[in-house]
Amino acid sequence: MPSPFLHATSGRPSEHYCSLCKTNFKTKFPRPKQGLLKEWESAVGEAKAALLKEWDEHLQAAHPRQWERERKKRARRRAQMEQIISKGEGTINDA
Ligand SMILES: [Zn+2]
Repeated sequence: MPSPFLHATSGRPSEHYCSLCKTNFKTKFPRPKQGLLKEWESAVGEAKAALLKEWDEHLQAAHPRQWERERKKRARRRAQMEQIISKGEGTINDA
């Protein structure tokens, strides 16, 4: 069974849909406005969060088996992170 993934069109602003069932997501990304870079960046951040939420909800509703797999994958990733942190290894270096 193929895994669904979030697909973006190349249009501007791009539209996002599910690769498996072609459901189109409602979240629209804002067009950049001249001189309003900061506002645009925060609007894009909000759109991204909204889109990911929509995607999660879509997986749960339309592809429960894949959602289950995705959930396990995320849990594993988080467990690995916690292990690294608790061992005091993997110091994040911002430089
Ligand atoms: Zn789908």
